[in-house]
Amino acid sequence: MQRKRYTRQQVKKHIDGECFVCKENKYELLDAHRIIEGGTYDYRNVVILCASCHRRVHCGEIKFDKKYNSTNGLLLHWWLSDREYWTPVLT
Ligand SMILES: [Zn+2]
Ligand SMILES: [Zn+2]
Repeated sequence: MQRKRYTRQQVKKHIDGECFVCKENKYELLDAHRIIEGGTYDYRNVVILCASCHRRVHCGEIKFDKKYNSTNGLLLHWWLSDREYWTPVLT
């Protein structure tokens, strides 16, 4: 299976349409955060975030591990203030 690659602008249009953390959905506020900094804008490496949640990621309050395949589809493993979450993500 070929994995689709996106540019930063495309990824904003194709993946989710809202902030992963707080569900903000104003397009102008959303940005694509790469889990592996400097990595590709591959859907597995990208999380859509609003400006304020994005700031919380870069100050370490929110931490992302990576996306895992499970029987229920793709799950993102992450922490918010040291609480652990496994959240299904759309691809
Ligand atoms: Zn947000
Ligand atoms: Zn970022």
